Amino acid sequence: MNHRLSLMKPSASLVFMSRAKEMQKTDPTVIGLAGGEPDFATPDRISMAAIHSLTEGNTHYVIGPGIPELRAAIAKKLCEENDIPCDENCILVTPGGKNAIYLAIHAVLNEGDEAIILNPAWVSYEPIVIAAGGTPVNVKLNYKRDYRITAEALEAACTEKTRILIINYPNNPTGRILHKEEADVLETFLLKHPNVYLLSDEIYERIVYDKKYSVSMASRPAVAERVITMNGFSKSVAMTGWRMGYLVSNKEVFQSAYKLYQHSLSCMSGFLQVGAIEAFKCQREIEDMRKIYEQRRDMFVGILNSIPGVSCPKPEGAFYAWVYFDVKGMNSEEICEYLLKNAKVVGMPGTAYGEENVACMRFSFANATAELEDAANRIREAILRLN
Ligand code: GLU
Repeated sequence: MNHRLSLMKPSASLVFMSRAKEMQKTDPTVIGLAGGEPDFATPDRISMAAIHSLTEGNTHYVIGPGIPELRAAIAKKLCEENDIPCDENCILVTPGGKNAIYLAIHAVLNEGDEAIILNPAWVSYEPIVIAAGGTPVNVKLNYKRDYRITAEALEAACTEKTRILIINYPNNPTGRILHKEEADVLETFLLKHPNVYLLSDEIYERIVYDKKYSVSMASRPAVAERVITMNGFSKSVAMTGWRMGYLVSNKEVFQSAYKLYQHSLSCMSGFLQVGAIEAFKCQREIEDMRKIYEQRRDMFVGILNSIPGVSCPKPEGAFYAWVYFDVKGMNSEEICEYLLKNAKVVGMPGTAYGEENVACMRFSFANATAELEDAANRIREAILRLN
């Protein structure tokens, strides 16, 4: 067996999502808040465009990094919404954002190169670095300082082997966005280390609350050349099952990633790409979903914060509540199991994201509002029973 893969843990998101599904087979009252998956349907015009293209016979290989109309629409979006002036010839359309990350990391890393991952971090960055033969270097940001990025933390982790720094804002799991001050820290770091690439996972970029704005690092001209931006359709347009994402980078990274793409995937499905073009005409639907997430956030976090021993900072973006527990000395995994059995709410333990210093959990609030309210009240009752 491949020794690198034997070092890899299974995806904790997928483990807990399937655990909830298993439990629901015998107990339909179980509420699954482990996976970050919008409960909304994909907007009709996207589905109709794909169906039309499919029935028109768009069922053959579509050789290339993505159909020109879709790549042009992505380039326009990045330029207008994220201030990323990009060359559409350096956009690669991928099967989901996860694959864009996989390709980007493989394009950049050589055996033994180091990748800095800011923790808490989504569950798949580290395994992907391992798959690429790299060495993950987890930088534990401090929950007592709101997980702020500091120059000291970055410098302490950086060696001559560091080749890539992975960031994700709006952040999964903490819900923090990238503020200007921290973008400045990142920019200074990149300028100081000219051999380091920055991979910016911006999959939640359209889901930001309270009229705030999360900085896209590729909008910084001094470092843009070394920023690989990844985004997709899953979260913002409720298209998780379509597996549609993309990356944009400099020519060198693009060409390297595209070679691996050719040998592992050949190309993306044509009719799905035709559907995805319509996503850029769904501004109203995207905004409607965002507003509903904001209302759900306020309700869900509000109930959780009313529970003694439980605290949840208001997420600035994405659709996750990152919740701290100070109950009976229980750790993240114990609380997760306790709530799973006693509240019948399945969330994710904070340790899955590398947070070992404080008992915490992540709950997705991309579920129906009534279900979320029920889940929060059940968590409340279960914790009150403990105290
Ligand atoms: N990204 C989502 C999550 O964190 C979906 C599952 C996954 O791919 O990890 O829940």
